[in-house]
Amino acid sequence: MHMAILGGVSLSMLYTLLYPWIYRYELAHYVMFGVALPFIVGLIGAFVWRAQVLARSFRVHAELNVDHEFRRRSAMLQGMLMAIIALTTTTLAMTILPTLFYVDIKLIITVFDYLLIVIFYARPEVNLYITFDRGLPNIRMPFNIKDVIEGKVDASQISMGVGKIGEFENYEIHSFDTCVEIGACEEYCPAVSAGRPLSPRVLVRKLAILKSASGLDADPFKVIGEDELWACTTCGACTYNCPVGVRHIDIIMDLRRKLVELGKLDQKKSNLLLNISQYNNSMGMPNYGRHDWLKELGVKTVQENSDFEYLLWIGCMGSFDNRAREIVKALVEILREAGLLDKVAILGDEETCCGDPARRLGEESRFQELALNNIELFKKYDVKAIITICPHGYNVFKNDYVKVDPWMGNVKVYHHVEFLNELINKGVIKVSRDNVVFTIHDPCYLARYNGVINPQREIIRKVGDLREPVRHGAQTFCCGAGGANYWYDVPEKKRISHIRLEQLMDTRAQTIVTLCPFCNAMLTDAARVKGVEDKVKILDIAEIIRESVAKPVETKQIN
Ligand code: SF4
Ligand code: SF4
Repeated sequence: MHMAILGGVSLSMLYTLLYPWIYRYELAHYVMFGVALPFIVGLIGAFVWRAQVLARSFRVHAELNVDHEFRRRSAMLQGMLMAIIALTTTTLAMTILPTLFYVDIKLIITVFDYLLIVIFYARPEVNLYITFDRGLPNIRMPFNIKDVIEGKVDASQISMGVGKIGEFENYEIHSFDTCVEIGACEEYCPAVSAGRPLSPRVLVRKLAILKSASGLDADPFKVIGEDELWACTTCGACTYNCPVGVRHIDIIMDLRRKLVELGKLDQKKSNLLLNISQYNNSMGMPNYGRHDWLKELGVKTVQENSDFEYLLWIGCMGSFDNRAREIVKALVEILREAGLLDKVAILGDEETCCGDPARRLGEESRFQELALNNIELFKKYDVKAIITICPHGYNVFKNDYVKVDPWMGNVKVYHHVEFLNELINKGVIKVSRDNVVFTIHDPCYLARYNGVINPQREIIRKVGDLREPVRHGAQTFCCGAGGANYWYDVPEKKRISHIRLEQLMDTRAQTIVTLCPFCNAMLTDAARVKGVEDKVKILDIAEIIRESVAKPVETKQIN
């Protein structure tokens, strides 16, 4: 859609520049019209699509009960974009008419069209320039705990969250007015699909209207509800898909941090933070002995195997949840088969939460304390590489820990699918092909945040056939567990995990491949509730490889 508009507007501008020289030649009009024809078709498609977006926005406004002024402004902005599409289509279609340029109705339409384009796109262009180098995982960190410890920053001056419009960062404030209601965020948002009380488009536009009405001192919580903020799974689809560079995810996190600062947490959210503080893990289990079952499988700790090459980061789910332990076991068995068990080690009782649930919930101090402690451990044991089965740990190690301490840039972080794919490609393990049809559920924090999309596909194509669901790769659809949602409830019309399971089952694959213990738990639970457990298997990539792994080949050298 965006390409059709961009292409159509560019062609229209090119024709306007060329027109004074070529309008006398009849043939030129036919050639120009011929070239414009595909763009005209694209623009008509874009217009129809916009009409659908407009209808959806009316529905969302009714569900979220937004006020009249909001609806009026929304219709005006969306109407403007539809007018641009209609006028650009008209200017291109009229190229076939060989009339005089300077007295031409085309000129009036063209000037009006360009005027609208300038008004509509000026701010988005500036915003794209401001945010172009902020990748999705680069979510704002309000302070650095090391600066506080080293006395470079006064802790009392730090504001965790945002309680006034003026406390947002400049790029965020600029982005409020940048939103021109294109609605791509809303289209891809799982919270909207599930009928939760959140639309990223409505959230940003409410802040824009509040700012223009009440200025920088306005309190964002006048227009944003707590449920609205907790409804977000932090899947990043909004920010990833916004064509004008609005970073909804930063805005939502800034406001969540304020709620945490004010202690506005229900029992389940408080329990999560309490578990992390008291037990050092998100599952509320005694941390002591968290890896005893792994030691029984022959996996050594970092003390027992000081020559280890890879730290196996098991994560809270992998350490305590029985189903997730099966995934870790599968990985361990593959490593054993490949003769690599001596190259890995675990932290044992010293492993704690990676901090992801605390950071996503908005408890930044707790997250940074955990990050700093873990980094100290990594330094103590001279960790050079980490393998983890959890995309959340993977993401924080790769993108957030480096901000806490740049030393983490020295540590190579692998998700187990990357590591196993390397082993397969180097011939260290061999898999065999079977007559099974698979579909892949890409975790947001792996595929969208970190671009890990191909390794799982390379592996699956070697062991069977692959059928992609409608939403896959970087455009994956969340399972509903992200953003600490795994630990608390959100009002919704339909469960996000049920919607995702339906998308995956629509492929008619026999096995759904997961790459995250949380995704696996969410989808397995959805299958149980929907009574379809016997119709589809839900297995982690490690379990699939273990099933199809042939005996290891000679070489055990993987460097
Ligand atoms: S991060 Fe995901 S759930 Fe949250 S607003 Fe954006 S698209 Fe919706
Ligand atoms: S649990 Fe899985 S799909 Fe859901 S946010 Fe995490 S990575 Fe995304």
